[in-house]
Amino acid sequence: MARSVPCVDIDALIAGAVRQKPGGTCTVGIALDRLEPAIAVKVRAVIADTDTFAVRGVMAVFAGLGLDVGRGPLERHRRQECACVQA
Ligand SMILES: [Zn+2]
Repeated sequence: MARSVPCVDIDALIAGAVRQKPGGTCTVGIALDRLEPAIAVKVRAVIADTDTFAVRGVMAVFAGLGLDVGRGPLERHRRQECACVQA
């Protein structure tokens, strides 16, 4: 017979493991929010088009707009593993 683990509050453990979502947007989302709406639409399309634009290219677009967005946050944003994606 398997040895049982000590009595734990599994719900509390799981609640504590939930990914933190400070502010509800990642640095990419914050950068997009700072752009003019007409420009943000185009930049979002560039981010979404992974076949045409490499991460390096997207970073160059942000740099050209005067915004410093890192590779890590951009890759997470593209994979929808960032704070912008709710649940
Ligand atoms: Zn994001």
